[in-house]
Amino acid sequence: NRKYHPDDTCIPLPNGAVIGGNKLAVIAGPCSVESEEQIVGIAKAVQQTGACALRGGAFKPRTSPYSFQGLECEGLELLRRARRETGLPVVTEIMSTEYIDLFQECVDVIQVGARNMQNFDLLKKLGRETDKPILLKRGLSSTIEEWLMSAEYIMAGGNQNVILCERGIRTFETFTRNTLDLSAVLAVKQLSHLPVVVDPSHACGKAWMVERMAMAAVAAGADGLIIEVHNDPKNALCDGAQSITPHQFQDVMDKLSPIARAV
Ligand code: PEP
Ligand code: MN
Repeated sequence: NRKYHPDDTCIPLPNGAVIGGNKLAVIAGPCSVESEEQIVGIAKAVQQTGACALRGGAFKPRTSPYSFQGLECEGLELLRRARRETGLPVVTEIMSTEYIDLFQECVDVIQVGARNMQNFDLLKKLGRETDKPILLKRGLSSTIEEWLMSAEYIMAGGNQNVILCERGIRTFETFTRNTLDLSAVLAVKQLSHLPVVVDPSHACGKAWMVERMAMAAVAAGADGLIIEVHNDPKNALCDGAQSITPHQFQDVMDKLSPIARAV
């Protein structure tokens, strides 16, 4: 809360990048880790374009149990290889408390997905048992207050390194996958000292919307972005429709720099 913590929290990553403060931090990578070739290739491409960290899901919270569930522990190992090749810190989602020790060893930023935003047991243990940065996504239908209270659960346990992530919320609208609530960026920046990043990919669900919504998020004051980038979106095992190619990612990064300088 700003009353007790007037200064913005800045969260350093192992490669010297910082989330929060005055430089835009862009995390990029595929929805899911699919193979060594895929994750290492994408990691190299997004690093060259200026991404500060690599995202990639190993444990996937899929709506259908028949959809690809992620490579799980093998996916973590492949992320480790991509980190070794590029030096990019890795961001990946945790779904169960049973993996906290493993994530502590091989992950740089632990993502709590929208579906687990109110998994209080997970939040409490991430607060007590690790000091790794936690990327806390806003729940599917969560209010800003509920989201900030989930961040409090982590911080109350002792881990102050929380990054908030607006990823769109459920509304009556069905054209987009979710509705990106950009006013939430301004709200949480006023209420909280924590950095906030925006995920235009899950918010829109459509690759062609990602660039403009990313630009809008930076104009709204977001500290960073998390963007799904895939080498072959048509054949992606998860979220291909919202994934942009490394080439399109380059275009997005070029458009963002002047906006980031202006805000
Ligand atoms: C993801 O980042 O791949 C993901 C599943 O996101 P969310 O939890 O926001 O749906
Ligand atoms: Mn995804």
